[in-house]
Amino acid sequence: MRRIGPGRISGVIAAALAALGVVFAMPPAARASTLIENVSVLPMTGVGLQADWAVLVDGDRIVAAGPRASLAAPADATVVDGAGGVLLPGLIDMHIHLDHGHDGRQSDVQLGLLAAHGVTTARVMWGHNGQLALRRAIVAENRFAPSLVLAGPGFSKSALSPAEVKAEVERQAKEGWDLIKVHWKPTLAQYDAIISAAKSVGKEVDGHVPYAVSLDHVLASGQRSIEHMDGYIRDIKAEGSAAPQAALQGAVARSKAAGVAVVPTLFGWRVHLHHTSSDELNALPGLAFVPASTLANWRSRYERPLKEQTKDWIKLLIGRRDVDAIVANRNRLLKAFSDGGVPVLFGTDSGQPFVVAGTAVPTEMAEMRAAGLTNRQIIESATVTAGRFLDSSGRLGVIAPGARADILVLPADPTTDLQAFARPLGVMLRGKWHSGEEIGRFLADARAAAGR
Ligand SMILES: [Zn+2]
Repeated sequence: MRRIGPGRISGVIAAALAALGVVFAMPPAARASTLIENVSVLPMTGVGLQADWAVLVDGDRIVAAGPRASLAAPADATVVDGAGGVLLPGLIDMHIHLDHGHDGRQSDVQLGLLAAHGVTTARVMWGHNGQLALRRAIVAENRFAPSLVLAGPGFSKSALSPAEVKAEVERQAKEGWDLIKVHWKPTLAQYDAIISAAKSVGKEVDGHVPYAVSLDHVLASGQRSIEHMDGYIRDIKAEGSAAPQAALQGAVARSKAAGVAVVPTLFGWRVHLHHTSSDELNALPGLAFVPASTLANWRSRYERPLKEQTKDWIKLLIGRRDVDAIVANRNRLLKAFSDGGVPVLFGTDSGQPFVVAGTAVPTEMAEMRAAGLTNRQIIESATVTAGRFLDSSGRLGVIAPGARADILVLPADPTTDLQAFARPLGVMLRGKWHSGEEIGRFLADARAAAGR
């Protein structure tokens, strides 16, 4: 990599250097200014596409965004030519899983794939040792990886007493996990213990609706996000036939009253439900980054008959009578949530079989589109809505002064073409710019590492 500067360089020179494959970068610790120009901007602050704007970044913060002619960059600013693209906030994937091999290499590829697809913040929904240090290193070294929000390890041991649950929540709070994760398994007593212990240490609780707990109980408990929507489908008895519109609207009203947000993970759930055909799975672009041995393992698990499935929750899911009705009701419920003002948080569930980090972003967006959401609703869920959920001060998921300099530049306007997300022109992570050429090299290396 080569550093550009000091001294202002013109957009023309910047474009020429970009064409030669020069990467604009700065050392991680330095405070440096960057001006991204020759772009239209989709700020996601309530205004539409703004032609001929520029964005000025200082360190890891946006300091100004406005008409190009109105912005004065410092003399030593690095200038990035946005090549006429559309600039918007980096994406937030609210539900991912990271592999946790001994050397961390697997998760490095996953994190790079997220960044390469414009994901600048990712919420990891199952904690493993090592992730706390990984989160610090990503920021300290300004790695090619999203900033992480970390759920603690789940409560998978069914025999924990409420006192042991409380001790575990306190331990996780002390270690510095961002939130407490609820999985499928807690009993009602364990769930209540998690909620009360989390409240006493000031941590939020997010996750599933456990099988032993009713949706109303979860909604009344102050859990902030509900993952996957399966708890809703069970509650409104939408597993066999078309759910009545009144039941969908009731779910919207109950969720709004509780102030809860929903993470739909549509595509990942269709995989879990075995609603996907082999052809559909084989055509997924993300498989190019998966080693053949992993892929073989996924295929054999997927094709195993119901009685040989080893995980209880998968048995429960694929044992349902009518997955077509479930999928149709899930789509209708998501549309009702989005139109009715329930915060919908974009999430892919990547790290699960066939859901490959980053590459799952356009796939999930297409699913949401098929459920009837508008492009704008989908983009909001992955930027400003998720950003506000994670940072109530409004400095995440928007292009505005004071916001974290997490920025995505696309070749076309995604409000009219979601496919623009498939190939970013560049991405800025915490103030550090990564060009399309750099992203392309990363993707080629990741394919090679997978033996492709
Ligand atoms: Zn998950």
